[in-house]
Amino acid sequence: MKIACFSTKPYDQHFLTAASEDSAHEFLFLEHRLDGSTVVLADGCNAVCAFVNDTLDRSVLEQLREMGVGLLAMRCAGVNNVDLEAAAECGVRVVRVPRYSPYAVAEHTVGLILTLNRKIHKAYNRVRENNFSIDGFLGFDLHGRTFGVIGTGAIGRVLAGIMKGFGCRVLLYDPYPNEEGRKLGEYVELERLLAESDLVSLQCPLTPETYHLIDADRLSKMKRGAMLVNTSRGGLVDTSAAIEGLKSGQLGGFALDVYEEETGVFFEDLSQQVVQDDVLSRLMTFPNVLITSHQAFFTREALETIAQTTMESIDAFDAGRALDNEVVASSS
Ligand code: NAD
Repeated sequence: MKIACFSTKPYDQHFLTAASEDSAHEFLFLEHRLDGSTVVLADGCNAVCAFVNDTLDRSVLEQLREMGVGLLAMRCAGVNNVDLEAAAECGVRVVRVPRYSPYAVAEHTVGLILTLNRKIHKAYNRVRENNFSIDGFLGFDLHGRTFGVIGTGAIGRVLAGIMKGFGCRVLLYDPYPNEEGRKLGEYVELERLLAESDLVSLQCPLTPETYHLIDADRLSKMKRGAMLVNTSRGGLVDTSAAIEGLKSGQLGGFALDVYEEETGVFFEDLSQQVVQDDVLSRLMTFPNVLITSHQAFFTREALETIAQTTMESIDAFDAGRALDNEVVASSS
């Protein structure tokens, strides 16, 4: 198989090369993001490997199929950027990596919470300038606080367990509650979770139903001054509404690893350029906002598993075996 790998950074190339050492597959590593203008680069390949900010809409999928691409291997869990119906219609099979490391994302989420609450990012800079004052760094004990988890899949449950360990009271919301979740906290309706939680963390997928799950209305139902954390997908939060919430004080803090307009910005070094996104720029001005650039997944263990699972899917497709990690449109 010849596989065009889009949006690859040196670390992706390293882990995919290591995982494919014993195989005869050939990788074409491309730094470009996959979209209508770059799809032509996959010409001559049987498979495409893509990531979170690549565009896999109907037009791109149709062009891939015309070139002879039969497999789309997503190096991630979320497939919100893939038109699954179009993929099924044109005969491109789609696989993903459903569980690479829930610990990586949950642990990064906790890192964001601790950093934003205790202002560790500010302390780091202050101390480096010989300023040993702690003025302005006042935080709160997590112990005894109510922590709300929206989405209790693999990541949400690991996160709930960690926060329970801190001594938080854990509230959970998921349209499909599960037994493991019940051992970690109390399932409640979304409105109650929002009203009672001191911290609310989003761990659900981005779907048409969850787009702007946190909007102005839901923000107004949160406890005044609560912290919102999003390490799932940017589109879950209406960023403009969050900015209004931060300005009014309704939202006491916002920690995010994902942003709805992150494509073309996150993962890139734009330090020599002017940021063109005024919403992102405004967000970056708040003292109580902490942004990381979609790095929650970024641990050695996660990258090893992503590469290994991707190779297993490619091998299975090549051999005509069942694809364990195939995703299909819910209507198909
Ligand atoms: P998962 O499939 O194990 O769990 C998702 C859970 O969300 C399920 O229990 C599901 O029932 C629930 N859910 C579905 N619709 C919901 C709704 N409307 N409200 C509340 N819950 C809902 O997925 P996971 O492995 O826990 O990952 C969760 C998400 O995290 C992924 O979809 C992905 O978008 C994101 N993610 C981000 C990173 C990162 O680097 N920042 C890395 C991996 C995954």
